[in-house]
Amino acid sequence: MKYVTEYRDAELVKGVIEEIRRTVTRPWTLMEICGGQTHAIVRHGIDQLLPPEIELVHGPGCPVCVTPLELIDKALAIASRPEVIFCSYGDMLRVPGSGRDLFSVRAGGGDVRVVYSPLDAVTLAEKHPDKQVVFFAIGFETTAPPNVMSVLQAQRLGLKNFSILVSHVRVPPAVNAILGSPSNRVQGFLLAGHVCAIMGYWEYPPLAKKFRTPMAVTGFEPLDIVQGILKAAQLLEQGRVEVANAYPRAVTLEGLKPAQAAIQRVFMECDHKWRGIGMIPMSGWRLRPEFDEFNAEKRFDVGSVRAEESPLCIAGEILQGLKKPHHCSAFGKECTPERPLGATMVSSEGACAAYYKYKG
Ligand code: SF4
Repeated sequence: MKYVTEYRDAELVKGVIEEIRRTVTRPWTLMEICGGQTHAIVRHGIDQLLPPEIELVHGPGCPVCVTPLELIDKALAIASRPEVIFCSYGDMLRVPGSGRDLFSVRAGGGDVRVVYSPLDAVTLAEKHPDKQVVFFAIGFETTAPPNVMSVLQAQRLGLKNFSILVSHVRVPPAVNAILGSPSNRVQGFLLAGHVCAIMGYWEYPPLAKKFRTPMAVTGFEPLDIVQGILKAAQLLEQGRVEVANAYPRAVTLEGLKPAQAAIQRVFMECDHKWRGIGMIPMSGWRLRPEFDEFNAEKRFDVGSVRAEESPLCIAGEILQGLKKPHHCSAFGKECTPERPLGATMVSSEGACAAYYKYKG
């Protein structure tokens, strides 16, 4: 398949890894921000092929992992209501709230459905005017355009029975929080190519300068990833505090302006709590007040929910690059993909799930 197969060519990947080996003269710690990149790195054994000077730590870029426990509990409360059809991407069904998950709500008779697009949920709302259809709108900048389009489409259709439960997060404030932390050990970033495809990468040069940390926009195939690592290593070795674009076939500096305009029309920035990490100022998006009728938190009075994480789970430290999954005492014992204690063991983009699946 063009634009995919050639980026999985083992010989080309080996060649770039050799170039990384020739480039590095001292240890560097790089963070890949995106959980999809974490999975690709572990799955293809890229971390094992790199020279020992390069350490990769895993970032918080897994939307399922960082959705706050309180919001999952709110989703469970809404999904349990008899008048509701609750729609979600499949990954969210097994994510544990403080007591149960969406699968157990479904087993108990709740109408919980997996959809592949929020527009499928809009179609369901059209077909079931006697039901309230709620879509669990989680994610980073990548899923924001379809989520805001679902709201605009429901508004256009005059639907009164469609709403979204929003937990949207933004990468730049998370990068700011990680690099600003006193315990930070990240010296270079691999930025998430799909986020930058939508938003561009114009927000990152000021962060790179503020923290004197070079960054490379990076894709998802093995060749993309090693090219991103090479770019970051070159910038670090040359002492250049810049943002390089190692994914130019998909990313421009400006990004997709129409998508950004649609997001700004429907969402506004807000402080947001990240599961395991805590509150990061202005790191989230919520619906603007003029779209309150599509806000599931306002439509359903689920009140404020307080939730407790498992005391064994160190997912917060893993998501900040401070620890790795095998540092968790529950890894593979009390916590497995079948019986997860934390979201990073459930999600297909979670670091714990990647280590369990590919490293055992
Ligand atoms: S292995 Fe399980 S308990 Fe440990 S950090 Fe990962 S998700 Fe949390």
